[in-house]
Amino acid sequence: MSDAESTLITGIGELVSNDGEPSGGQPDSSQPGSFAAMTDAALVIAGGKVAWTGPASRAPAADTVVDVAGRAVLPGFADSHAHLVFAGERSAEFAARMAGRPYRAGGILGTVEATRAAPDSALRANLRRLAAEMLRQGTTTFECKSGYGLTVPDEARGLALAAEITPEVTYLGAHVVPPEFAADPAGYVDLVCGPMLDACAPAARWVDVFCEDGAFGADEAAAVLAAGQAAGLHARVHANQLGPGPGVRVAAEAGAASADHCTFLTDDDVDALASTPVVATLLPGVEFSCRQPFPQARRLLDAGAVVALATDCNPGSSFTSSMPFCIALAVREMGMTTEEAVWAATAGGARALRRTDIGHLGVGARADLILLDAPSHTYLAYRPGVPQIAAVWQAGNLVAGTTVNNAA
Ligand SMILES: [Zn+2]
Repeated sequence: MSDAESTLITGIGELVSNDGEPSGGQPDSSQPGSFAAMTDAALVIAGGKVAWTGPASRAPAADTVVDVAGRAVLPGFADSHAHLVFAGERSAEFAARMAGRPYRAGGILGTVEATRAAPDSALRANLRRLAAEMLRQGTTTFECKSGYGLTVPDEARGLALAAEITPEVTYLGAHVVPPEFAADPAGYVDLVCGPMLDACAPAARWVDVFCEDGAFGADEAAAVLAAGQAAGLHARVHANQLGPGPGVRVAAEAGAASADHCTFLTDDDVDALASTPVVATLLPGVEFSCRQPFPQARRLLDAGAVVALATDCNPGSSFTSSMPFCIALAVREMGMTTEEAVWAATAGGARALRRTDIGHLGVGARADLILLDAPSHTYLAYRPGVPQIAAVWQAGNLVAGTTVNNAA
């Protein structure tokens, strides 16, 4: 479709637009609002953006008309947390964990070894396979971290590969201390904040740190974030995944966009998330795959925190790329309503990436949208594990699936 052409999508049984009134403010079509949905709706795409939404009966004319026969249309998913630059796999580790043997640190280092040894072509092929898998499942924007290289050239290589396919590239040199620095973790932090950052910052938008016992403590994490910010990067943090700790506090003090995991939170942590713009990004694929208690989404939402959902797709603790699966977990296991979970996977992810052009279908938003083979968003949780993404548009282009209604 050329930019001059317009497409009318009509016969939409439910259009989830996320352009409802935000709490404490007026609706603003230039950024996501609260969850909002309209039945018997239509939407016009022009120039790669949403040009009009409203009742199907009042839809304007367009160059092309697509009738979706009562099915639901949603914003594309924004997966704000993924580790896709890696080689190898860890299915044996997963099987052992499910058999009841305890999770042992060191799994990440197995992936580091395989990643360092892999040629660019193998890393690129794996990355693109996973990105294509995400797109087919409705993810139109995803974040991608480094963190399995942990040398200057390997981290820079991972970020360059990620930058080939997404603008949301995150420098995670501070994922874990590599074995060659086991006796000198402070020396590794100096490397992450110095020469490695210099090599990585040009390809990255974000800096991240795994703030946890056994990884990086509060002072080290704060130093990594400050160095990244001084190099022009924006902060996000792996926080409070394995136990209570300083991660959320570090994220709030650094003005991070997001604190990710948030599985073990004190009341002070919840207050910090509710009283600052830091998004609480919950990653229920991890708790599912590690057989751990799920994050307390209800507690965060009731306190007023902004909650996002993401996959944390990685070969160790959560090897799913499916946002619909995360939505189903959030509804079934974390007390979120279907509306809250879908908002968190779309507008919430956009907030966690500080993007206003995605995560909603207000006029002017990028035309990233999903057609479900179902009449409403509820089906994402109501029919878990069922492929229901019929078609995906990215910037107005149909990039996956078909609009043909197989059920008709
Ligand atoms: Zn992660």
